[in-house]
Amino acid sequence: MAATTSATDLDRVVGKLQALVRIPTVSDRNPARVDTDAFDRLLAEMETQFPRVHAGLELTRVGTHGLLFRWPGASDARPVVLMAHLDVVPIDADAPWQHPPFGAEIADSPTGPAIWGRGTLDDKGCVVGICEAVELLLEAGHVPAQDVWLSFGCDEEVSGTAALAAVDHLRAAGVRPWFVVDEGGAIAHEAFPGVKPPLGVIGVTEKGTTSVELVAEGRGGHASTPARNGPTARIARAILRVEKSPFPASAPAPTLELMRRIAPHVPLPLRPLLSRADRIAPAVTRALLAAGPEAAAMTRTTVAATTLSGSPALNVIASTAKAGLNVRVMVGDTVAGVVDHLRAAIKDDSIRIDVVESGEPSPVSPMDDAFRLIESCIGEVFPDAVPTPYVMMAATDSRHFTEICERVYRFAPFRMTKAQRQAIHSYDEHLGVSALVDGVRWYRTLIERLPA
Ligand SMILES: [Zn+2]
Repeated sequence: MAATTSATDLDRVVGKLQALVRIPTVSDRNPARVDTDAFDRLLAEMETQFPRVHAGLELTRVGTHGLLFRWPGASDARPVVLMAHLDVVPIDADAPWQHPPFGAEIADSPTGPAIWGRGTLDDKGCVVGICEAVELLLEAGHVPAQDVWLSFGCDEEVSGTAALAAVDHLRAAGVRPWFVVDEGGAIAHEAFPGVKPPLGVIGVTEKGTTSVELVAEGRGGHASTPARNGPTARIARAILRVEKSPFPASAPAPTLELMRRIAPHVPLPLRPLLSRADRIAPAVTRALLAAGPEAAAMTRTTVAATTLSGSPALNVIASTAKAGLNVRVMVGDTVAGVVDHLRAAIKDDSIRIDVVESGEPSPVSPMDDAFRLIESCIGEVFPDAVPTPYVMMAATDSRHFTEICERVYRFAPFRMTKAQRQAIHSYDEHLGVSALVDGVRWYRTLIERLPA
């Protein structure tokens, strides 16, 4: 039977999200700059808001403030892991927030009343969605058919190690999850121009995040006697050469499947083309490349020049010049392949390429029974949405779980407009009140539908 939501249930879950959003758990790569008191308060608040979860589930602390809960099911043969993270990105004090970023005010939005604040979408909405679903099921005396693990990291936004610690714990306990659900996709409204229904986008893989530094060295010296081809000029030339040598593009299987699934909903002239997307992959790839940077990023490894450094003074020639490149590695490519490509593009043996951060793309999760279960729960709670796989551009904690699990899916069960998606990591982040309630229902449905 479908769960019903009364007015009191609604107030209850909204109040819980407000309570968590009001605690500014901003993570930082430098541990000294983390407000550990805020994280302590958040964990205490979670205990207050979700008493049954804390009383009924086994809890292991991972990392500094990460939580790993085990809810024993009727069977431990096919355990599942529901993930979210407790930390948020900082706010830009100059950004024009319509409501205080840590105020969690309820105010109108273009789609109705919403909770406004940092972390409502990324990712405390998921924390509350998961915990409230479990809380309601515990109240109802439900025993899940399979073990359900809840994994909440505390340093996702700074690529921290809490999720790795959770994976280590599960590995040591001999737990091989049947599937994992983490943040990432959503019920995305206005996802494609001309497509009316929202898309239930389920990330089946994510690009790898890799950073390299190009380093040029030379004699440097006084700016009054410059020589040609100094370190700064060579770095500048290298950046331009990298920009002129994009990685080869080819739409991967999940992208082609996405095209096929939206085909019935695109304007009539495009329908026959997209419905055969898998057979005309090169044409689809060309179309995506022409459709702007966002669509183009779906087809290949991308490189962005980010940091630059050189001379410390206006009248000094640099003896060392450096440029940072942030690379998002596409499924099918490798970090080693990226370095080879850059070396060939730069055509200058005097430039050193240092890999500062190495992240391979995640394997593609299969679209078998677990994927179909997720799809059917989307169908139940969001009947207007078109479920589809896709390639995630950003990184999530769930990438670490690919070491112990074949089926890792990135999906947050919340309706989001384009403006809401753009507010993530930016300003005016907000989650609709009814969207939050639907999200709780989706997690609840997923747990209830776990097969024996
Ligand atoms: Zn996140």
